[in-house]
Amino acid sequence: MPIRWRLTLWFSVILCVALVLAGVIIYIVLQNHLHSEVDDNLKVYAAEIKDYIGSDIVMAPDDYDVVCDAACACSPALREFGSPGVHVRLIDGNGNIVGRSENLGDLELPVEESLIERGLAGEAGTATLTASDGTKIRVMTDQIQGQHEPLILEVGQSLRHIDAAMNQVRWALIGSLLAALAFAIVSGGILVRRALAPVVDIARTAQNIEESSDLSKRVGYDGPKDEIGQLATTFDHMIEHLEKAFESQRLFIADASHDLRSPLTVLQGNLDLLKRDLGEEERRESLRAIEAETHRMSRIVDDLLLLAEVESGQIEWRGRVSLREVLLESAERGQQLAGDRKVVVGRQEDIFIRGDAHRLKRLLGNLVDNAIRYTPEGGTITLSLFRNEDWACINVVDEGMGIAPEHLPHVFERFYMVDRARSRSHGGSGLGLTIVKAIAEQHGGKVTVTSELGKGSTFTVWLKL
Ligand code: ADP
Repeated sequence: MPIRWRLTLWFSVILCVALVLAGVIIYIVLQNHLHSEVDDNLKVYAAEIKDYIGSDIVMAPDDYDVVCDAACACSPALREFGSPGVHVRLIDGNGNIVGRSENLGDLELPVEESLIERGLAGEAGTATLTASDGTKIRVMTDQIQGQHEPLILEVGQSLRHIDAAMNQVRWALIGSLLAALAFAIVSGGILVRRALAPVVDIARTAQNIEESSDLSKRVGYDGPKDEIGQLATTFDHMIEHLEKAFESQRLFIADASHDLRSPLTVLQGNLDLLKRDLGEEERRESLRAIEAETHRMSRIVDDLLLLAEVESGQIEWRGRVSLREVLLESAERGQQLAGDRKVVVGRQEDIFIRGDAHRLKRLLGNLVDNAIRYTPEGGTITLSLFRNEDWACINVVDEGMGIAPEHLPHVFERFYMVDRARSRSHGGSGLGLTIVKAIAEQHGGKVTVTSELGKGSTFTVWLKL
């Protein structure tokens, strides 16, 4: 069953229970109120009759009706009493009816034994009796003193009108309950359908994407920013990320294949050459080329493996790392590779972070290698480490050729090389800065770069403290 039908059903069942409960309570309260009003009336009537008749009632059985009728005729209250809805009976201790008002006519009314017992004990009592024609009669009994023995005075009032009214109330309640339910089911169904429409859109979009493998499809939700709105927006963002990830994966595979194919072509060419009868010098030249290309390939493969490892989010060791030590080690290593260039250390604060020392050394090593690679002989490379608010900053400043503004936003992309031939001649693969960025991000940080053509570049690594 679709969720919208289930929700509507639940909603309607709960509403139905609540309405039935409210209806039953209203019905019972109203009925009790009307009955208690009747009881109050009966109490007044009984008291007035008792006062009127007093204790010297004549106990001649034939006269009871006369006594009663006389009583009814004498008091305005009792005249009212004698109206069609109200009757009076006198009952002796054995439950025999010894007198009854005329308005009861042929109507047979049972005698409630418990009321007789209570009456004889001097207590007033009330009960609802069913007459021979099925009418409900509310009776109140009290004791009055007869000539020879105590008698029970029973005053009763028909509940026919109240029952008729309550019957109407009952049907009105059932009718309004059914109408409310029908309204709730229809309007609830429409509301739930409207509220869940984005979920249906999400499911449809997901299905379309699955069937067509087209990640450019979106839900395109533009309704209120409630939970379902957030779900639809998050779904679109997720698909957008996936699309970008797939696209970059596609480009990555294309770039990686391309970059591995050129050394393979060189290898293949040189192997073909070696199969021929070559002179010693040419043979050595071919072997040198094979060695260089093998080196390049192995570097690319190493870089790719490291990148895959870093981007998978695995971090081998999250110990306390002294960034100062990392900086000094990288500077020392740089000095050995720098030739006529100088590698100096500027500001060096004592800063510790949690991270992977090995990878942080690799990060700094890549930046220092690049700085050396692109700085002419005699130039200086300055490394510094300092605190900037919540960040530990490592600067690698060189006095090299710099990077043109149009290349600057792309230098961290995979296989991006400003000058392919030049980078290759240095043994570059275009993965160095991608690895730097990935390691920085793995440590909750980032890398920024500023550069001026012909003057030099400044790479800054920001690591969260
Ligand atoms: P590569 O292996 O080619 O050095 P990188 O990812 O390390 O690859 O760098 C990408 C490109 O950024 C390089 O081709 C180079 O042109 C440019 N670059 C990187 N560092 C510097 C620098 N310090 N000075 C000038 N250009 C740089």
